[in-house]
Amino acid sequence: MQIMVLRLGHRLPRDERMTTHVCLTSRAFGASGAIYSGQKDGSLERSVKRIAENWGGEFSIEYEPKPIARIERMKKDGWSVVHLTMYGMPLPEKEAGIRGRGKVLVVVGAEKVPAEVYQLADFNVAVGGQPHSEIAALAVALDRMQGGKELERGFNSNFGGAAISLEPAEKGKKIRKG
Ligand code: SAM
Repeated sequence: MQIMVLRLGHRLPRDERMTTHVCLTSRAFGASGAIYSGQKDGSLERSVKRIAENWGGEFSIEYEPKPIARIERMKKDGWSVVHLTMYGMPLPEKEAGIRGRGKVLVVVGAEKVPAEVYQLADFNVAVGGQPHSEIAALAVALDRMQGGKELERGFNSNFGGAAISLEPAEKGKKIRKG
């Protein structure tokens, strides 16, 4: 399964940290890239690129000024759109259907999400029926979509060429440089 994440409606300065964490969570939990819309933010792009360079693997970050058109284009290219929203259907009822898809675009909002997104989405999925955070929703959804393999020890092999990597340790830290 190839996963991309689209973060809608990035606002400066309000969403600086949240969108950065959307990107870092996407990368750490199996997405091959993140796309963000709203306000362009060079500092966000630089910090995500720096993390990806230091910790290895391939991860893209891209600004998209026209997110609705981008979603429409990606759907035409065979991507299934999973919109995370507290108004959606419970994730446990939809995760099996999502896992069967080859290319999945996961969409999270920031400000009020346009109605077109709900219409365009193949899945509108709730991670619990309460308002919480795009970071938590994304993490749980990515985990369920991949059956938890992104948390296993061997998953780190996806981050090849890392300048920094970690060895699991019962106590303390085991950091490998280079
Ligand atoms: N309106 C506030 C704002 O402007 O910051 C909060 C936005 S809400 C926390 C941001 C995103 O979190 C939503 O668009 C949705 O993608 C995600 N989200 C929050 N609660 C969720 C839930 N229970 N299930 C799925 N996604 C959720």
